[in-house]
Amino acid sequence: MDNGEFRKTDDLVSGKDALDEDKLNAQLEERYNSDIIYTYVGDILVAVNPYQMLPLYTPEIALKYCDISSKADFAPHLYAIAVGAYNAMMRNSQPQVTVISGESGAGKTESTKHFMRQIMMASSRRNGGGDDDGPRELHPVEQKIIQTNPILEAFGNAQTVMNDNSSRFGKFIELKFSPIGMVVGASMSHYLLEKARVVKQGPGERNYHIFELLLAGGDLGALKLAGISQFKYLASRRSDMDNLKAEYTEVIEALGKVGFTNEEIEDIQRILATVLLLGNFEFKDTSSDKAEITTAAELEKAAANLGVEPEKLRIGFMTKRLEVVGQAIIQELNITDVQYSRDAVSKALYDRLFTWLVTRLDIMLCPNNLRSEKQLTIGMLDIFGFEDFKANGFDQMCINLANERLHHFFNEHIFASEIAEYKAEGIEGAESVFFEDNDKILDLFFSKVSLLSILNEETNFPGATDQTLMQKLTDQLKDQEALEIKPGGYAFVVKHYAGGIEYQIEGMIEKNKDPLPNQMAPNMEAASNSVAHLLFKPNYIELTREAAGANAAPEESKAAKLKRKKTRKKSRRGKKARALPTVSFQFRTSLDQLMTEMNRCIPHFVRCIKPNLEKKPKMFVGELVKKQLKYTGMLQTIEMRREGFPVRLEWGELLQRYQGIAFPFSASYGNSKDMAIKLMKTAQAKQEEIRKEKKLTARVTTLDGWKPANSKMFL
Ligand code: ADP
Ligand code: MG
Repeated sequence: MDNGEFRKTDDLVSGKDALDEDKLNAQLEERYNSDIIYTYVGDILVAVNPYQMLPLYTPEIALKYCDISSKADFAPHLYAIAVGAYNAMMRNSQPQVTVISGESGAGKTESTKHFMRQIMMASSRRNGGGDDDGPRELHPVEQKIIQTNPILEAFGNAQTVMNDNSSRFGKFIELKFSPIGMVVGASMSHYLLEKARVVKQGPGERNYHIFELLLAGGDLGALKLAGISQFKYLASRRSDMDNLKAEYTEVIEALGKVGFTNEEIEDIQRILATVLLLGNFEFKDTSSDKAEITTAAELEKAAANLGVEPEKLRIGFMTKRLEVVGQAIIQELNITDVQYSRDAVSKALYDRLFTWLVTRLDIMLCPNNLRSEKQLTIGMLDIFGFEDFKANGFDQMCINLANERLHHFFNEHIFASEIAEYKAEGIEGAESVFFEDNDKILDLFFSKVSLLSILNEETNFPGATDQTLMQKLTDQLKDQEALEIKPGGYAFVVKHYAGGIEYQIEGMIEKNKDPLPNQMAPNMEAASNSVAHLLFKPNYIELTREAAGANAAPEESKAAKLKRKKTRKKSRRGKKARALPTVSFQFRTSLDQLMTEMNRCIPHFVRCIKPNLEKKPKMFVGELVKKQLKYTGMLQTIEMRREGFPVRLEWGELLQRYQGIAFPFSASYGNSKDMAIKLMKTAQAKQEEIRKEKKLTARVTTLDGWKPANSKMFL
């Protein structure tokens, strides 16, 4: 079937040849070495990070791709996918979504930016803007949308060993269009910011960019940061002060341009300063096992930035409220607990600041009258890929279960289109040949009695520990095929589609809780820093939306709204809701919303590949790439084709190649379906004969019950 040479083709599955992982790898490498980073594998665009500026994104090229009518017109490019999505949306009034996946440093965020710009370009091109001299200026609303990039990157990105500008959150941005295809707004949401980074960074890693930017460009005197030479929350810092200053200015200007007020921007700066100061608090033990703060000056400075009395801040994180036989008592914490509590405040404050920023951006970019626009939208999902570290915990579990959901989505669409083609060609029962879903794993995580439900139950159960959690998992999930409990009770293995991953149980419950110490919120009631004041309230997101006159939640039904109001009334009366929303519960809810959103769209898939760990151009490490092809589901796609019918020939092609088996080589039958079927039947009969004679055990495709319909022979 496979006569050697691979064409230097742009679409690796359109060819006649069966594709396997080695060939795909070799092909990608060959292309990569000639600076061709984009390749189609069927409907999927594979993008290998070049780690160098290639002349791929010039205005001329962008403009050229605007006029594309079919993907096959020009060489594979992200621009082609972008314009394709835009055109499809306009043509059919159908919402589109692009899933951009890959591991950290693979190029997802850069791709998302290029993608978004190109859509704006296509939109402008369609509406008479931009000519062959170059593109036109962006519209104000488009400019605003673009301005969210420096903001999100400053607050949500950090240097890691994988990527100097690594996004530590997942994001979904949806562009909204007017009936004539102009960008009129955008909505955005984010998934799981990595909070731990705020208080501690691994070797070779840094805190969120914004802290360093603030220290380089902010008014340190006003923020009470002057004269402090070291911040414990910043393990290492950049030294290129001029760049930092310029980036700081860019972020502050961007905040203003998208619509934050000067007061808000000042409040944000003060919150950042508070976090830095919190990190420098020091404590000592006293004889009564109560911690004492030894850095009164830092406490005062931090309190000043929040606009509260220092004592309020001290009580807020250095004490806890306990209920003992129906009576509340306030207990001072010991030194270990106080350090933990201080870090918990820092993490929660920063995390909420980020969530608030994204919520506000969402409100500012998407006026209420556009919220219900469902047809003319293009979504872009830039989300972390599969993670498997030496030690995996709660965070990796969340990321990986998100990937399982996405894999399911991917399968549904890729398989669905495959099955549709088989149906169109009259092949029945093909789906059962190769369909392998990940339903079992999804059940393990999401069904009624599942990893997440048990985790949530335990998180809300007073006195529960990681050990009791493990016990419950063992008792209730022992029959689940996709789960394996490690002996010793410290870890469990989930058999993900990409392979088994071991998760440590330690810290699961703690990470799943809302981390804010319980005395913090009541003591921040008086904070004059309005943003901080808001962020310490448990329902700050809802309040933010209400203040903006925006819908509390885009998809909220009347019933849900009513329920929410009731719950609020209850909590006002001081009755605590039984179960607090845990981190995993919230994550699950936002994933559910995302999937609902995506399921109404026509999907496009971009798989970003990281060619080496050195962040170097011109370096392609085959083993590394192979692993990613597996994680991104590429190999499954290929396997699917192999398990199904990888080789598809037109009738005429089939005859030309193989007619010698049944007919004279010299005869000419054109594209005759009848002759092709005759050929196949003869071939099968001959094969049977040979099989009997030589006891061959090779698989023989049976033609019984096969009713070919249309144009191709599936082999
Ligand atoms: P991810 O979001 O997947 O973690 P990024 O998009 O941040 O990865 O990319 C990591 C780095 O790789 C970028 O900072 C940039 O240096 C480089 N890079 C990514 N895509 C491209 C591209 N198309 N051209 C040139 N460099 C790129
Ligand atoms: Mg990123």
